[in-house]
Amino acid sequence: MADPKGFLKITERELPQHRPVDVRIQDWREVQEDLDRGTVTKQASRCMDCGIPFCHNGCPLGNLIPEWNHLVYTHDWAEAIERLHATNNFPEFTGRLCPAPCESACVLGINQPAVTIKNVEVSIIDRAWEEGWVRPLPPPTAPAAPSPSSAPAPPGSPPRSSSPAPDTTSPSTSAPTASAACSATASPSSRWRSGTSTAASPR
Ligand code: SF4
Repeated sequence: MADPKGFLKITERELPQHRPVDVRIQDWREVQEDLDRGTVTKQASRCMDCGIPFCHNGCPLGNLIPEWNHLVYTHDWAEAIERLHATNNFPEFTGRLCPAPCESACVLGINQPAVTIKNVEVSIIDRAWEEGWVRPLPPPTAPAAPSPSSAPAPPGSPPRSSSPAPDTTSPSTSAPTASAACSATASPSSRWRSGTSTAASPR
């Protein structure tokens, strides 16, 4: 748990200021000024580690919010990023762009300004990038897909024969050719399939 009395000692939210618009439009830097880590730690200490943390329900990702609030409060930033990445692949995006429904769901918000969850989140990931803790985790290489011939035959299907399938392309096969289809002996359906107009099409 963060500071059990944190929300009694610090009752106001403190967030980074937005840089002036006329300055921001001149560059591609952050919209907000940096907030010092001491302030972020104090804000995280306001988390009450609720028995039923409604922030979890508010977060579409189910972020482990009380856990990383506690880790930030205890200055364990390395473990905080591990807990954050456990449910969120891109906190550098959500920590800047998410409308933070978690804060609207925060229980502390009932009678005080809610915990600055979103700012704690972006502070964790920014620190992790600075420290080089964010590393690619490529998935283990998937085993090669079995070739169709080695795949087991589906249940109930005839056993695969080792002899190769008959070659239907060479002229010596018994498939009916167009002239054969037109002969008087060809079945009505083969004539219909061969599209000859002499025979009435089956209704
Ligand atoms: S609801 Fe608010 S106070 Fe409760 S655990 Fe979540 S962030 Fe902390």
